[in-house]
Amino acid sequence: MHELGIVFYIIDGVKAAAQDNNVSRVEAVTVELGEVSGVVPDLLQDAWNWAIKREPIMDEATLFTEVQPALNQCDDCKETFSPTKFGKTCPACGSPNTHLIQGSGAIIKNIAAR
Ligand SMILES: [Zn+2]
Repeated sequence: MHELGIVFYIIDGVKAAAQDNNVSRVEAVTVELGEVSGVVPDLLQDAWNWAIKREPIMDEATLFTEVQPALNQCDDCKETFSPTKFGKTCPACGSPNTHLIQGSGAIIKNIAAR
């Protein structure tokens, strides 16, 4: 299950950050989900609610999700553009040599703690 793997990845990141900052209680975590990551927010929420019960430091933490727009960059003219709008062809020079530089993953954006 894709979403559960991402939840474990987020929890590991939050735990590492909490340890580095001497945080004893995490109250909320905000995660940016890539527009083309394929992650379903509802499924992520379900996986989150299940997984945090095993983590005393964050067993009641709220998960907030935000969408990170997908971004492609052209290898030829270095222009960046939205692949959901323009596909894989560079709108500036018409080159097909473009690649995704943002929007395929999940990034921890903010951790609220006390
Ligand atoms: Zn280009």
